Amino acid sequence: MADEAAGAQRDWQQQVEEKLVRLVTELRRQGLRVTAQRLAIARIVFENIKEHPSFMQILEKVRETMPSVSPSTVYNNLQLLEKLGLIKSFDVAGETRYDNIHPHINIVCLDTGKVFDAEDEDESREVVQRIEKLLGGSARVYEVVVYAFCGNEGQQDAAREASGPG
Ligand SMILES: [Zn+2]
Repeated sequence: MADEAAGAQRDWQQQVEEKLVRLVTELRRQGLRVTAQRLAIARIVFENIKEHPSFMQILEKVRETMPSVSPSTVYNNLQLLEKLGLIKSFDVAGETRYDNIHPHINIVCLDTGKVFDAEDEDESREVVQRIEKLLGGSARVYEVVVYAFCGNEGQQDAAREASGPG
């Protein structure tokens, strides 16, 4: 498998399509129904997963195209996607955020509440492997979260442009 080199270059939309194919495969394997609504919700989740969305953010996105969808339907679909191993979740300041499943480093800014992935994937992989080695046996890292302060508390919109003192 050459998915390491290819993975970095693969188009994001292509990755979404692949996840949907995997979802259909998993649903069939488990004897669960493959409905248009389920696939539409999953597509929205996969398309927005890089933003580490909360449940409310996903619900809002889904309602842009399905205004009458109930929160419990969206929630149940999220639970299912997580159970099938297609997404994962972790808590940020008491709020559940959803994320890609591949092991990587997440950086949580405690000033703005923003969550983003460490950009260097090779470096992230190296850290993950080192932690797994440290834990020994068949240890598998689920999620690495780094908490930091960007120093722009209360300036959520300006946080991206500000690059600190200097
Ligand atoms: Zn992440």
